[in-house]
Amino acid sequence: MIAMSDKENGDLEERAIDILRQYKDGVLQSELWKTLGISSREGSRLVLRLIRRGVVRREEVTVNGRRTYKLYAVKAGAPTFSIKVDVSSILDIPCAACPRLSECGAGGYYDPSTCPLLEAWLKKEIAKLRVQRVQTAS
Ligand code: SF4
Repeated sequence: MIAMSDKENGDLEERAIDILRQYKDGVLQSELWKTLGISSREGSRLVLRLIRRGVVRREEVTVNGRRTYKLYAVKAGAPTFSIKVDVSSILDIPCAACPRLSECGAGGYYDPSTCPLLEAWLKKEIAKLRVQRVQTAS
């Protein structure tokens, strides 16, 4: 097998994007590969590169009982979001290691609203927040 050069890969990517831009309802990946004249292996790599670049997105669909992907061009200039979430405050929540997690729910035998472990954890977190608030106020 002969590997494609960076320029060939780049050309292929641009052709794929051009095709996808013509179909706002998306294109099945197999159709795109057929149109580009490439194998499914090359096509999979191509799609992953395009997704990594943020210029293509894909949705899983079922066609004739088989799962595949439909590909869509992402509009240039479409807003992208980056949200930083600090999860450090919930890393030690008792539910994370609770053996009853799958059985726990509102109205059940194990219920977060009556759980002593969760209540104790919440009280500890509230106490921490109060200390932080006092420290930042002074
Ligand atoms: S609320 Fe209590 S019982 Fe339910 S998952 Fe959390 S720690 Fe476990």
